Amino acid sequence: METSLPSSPASAEDMCVVCQGGDPTQVGQRTTWVGNSLPFMATGPASSLVDAGQSPARGSEAEQSETRPKGPQPDSPDGRRAKRGAREPRVVPHYVDTRQGSLLPLGRRKGSAYAYCFQCGSVQLVPLPTKEKLARLYREEYHESGHYHLAAEANEKQRRHLNSRIASLIASLHPSTDRRLVVELGTGWGSLGLEIIGRGLSYLGLEPSTTMCQAAKERGLDVRQGSLETLESDSALQGRVRTFVTLSVYEHLVDQTDALRRMAAVLPPEGRIVIQCPTASVPRIVGRWQRRLAPRRELPSLLGIFAPPWHVCMPSIQGVRLQAARTGLVVERVLASPSGRNSRLSVRLAQILQETVARSGHRLFGEGWPISACHIFVLRHAG
Ligand SMILES: [Zn+2]
Repeated sequence: METSLPSSPASAEDMCVVCQGGDPTQVGQRTTWVGNSLPFMATGPASSLVDAGQSPARGSEAEQSETRPKGPQPDSPDGRRAKRGAREPRVVPHYVDTRQGSLLPLGRRKGSAYAYCFQCGSVQLVPLPTKEKLARLYREEYHESGHYHLAAEANEKQRRHLNSRIASLIASLHPSTDRRLVVELGTGWGSLGLEIIGRGLSYLGLEPSTTMCQAAKERGLDVRQGSLETLESDSALQGRVRTFVTLSVYEHLVDQTDALRRMAAVLPPEGRIVIQCPTASVPRIVGRWQRRLAPRRELPSLLGIFAPPWHVCMPSIQGVRLQAARTGLVVERVLASPSGRNSRLSVRLAQILQETVARSGHRLFGEGWPISACHIFVLRHAG
């Protein structure tokens, strides 16, 4: 079954949840829409990637001419030729039409469709599940869905390496003498919480799953069932937060920008938000190549990155910067994330290889290095 996208322009379903089709006042100026930093990643104009008959409607020509900047467009072949021929400055105005959708099909998995945004590069489910439906699934089904390992001990073993790195990063940002809280969004079975407490920091977990919340409490962690709403509604917690952390959770959120806005509202000036999540580059590259070479095949799991309905959106680095800018935050650091360590040897070796390639490339080429499945972002208040 082929992936299809809604044909109505500006419909909610073909609008990127990360950049909402882009916004020139926030995106500013740049040369390309996403990290086409290596020759093998360079592709034709976005429209050529849409199957015949599946092109998202782009509005009337008159409408487009009103919203486009004058002169050659950077996303168009003419624009590219003009850029090369006339030797214009590297930084050019980024073409953005905020009234139209920007999602192109990527592929399907388990009956759900993923698309990517040709403006900011983020990868997301289309259509997005509703918050209400997801809230119910997390409350009742997530803990036994197989997406997240059933046994807390086995999960902890798999994540020990990653948890340790994240806890060390948090400890470097949050002095142990500061008794304010490290709040984890999505505690799971509590393995990161235990690492954080082990670093001498005060911890509060927020976890929507009844089962996981109970399990984490039994391990001695202070965990509340719920999400950011729970924090906001508890007056005793006001002014007590210093750091937020989300580990393999951000990609599960339907409205990531809203979550950032709510964290920013609670975050003190010296506070930090640490987000670890799979990002768009690897799934986008794999999905686009598969679409060319084997368009009828399901998207692969990619070590669990393509995981509907749980993984709603894998943002690009550019997308996270845009989300931060819209919420009064700024991305202070971007790091290639360590991987987990699966108990199956073949998966474990793939994880180690991925981590080595990601971190070496990131060190050598910076955040434009595309072969990084997950990143860690450190955000703080802008200014
Ligand atoms: Zn986008």
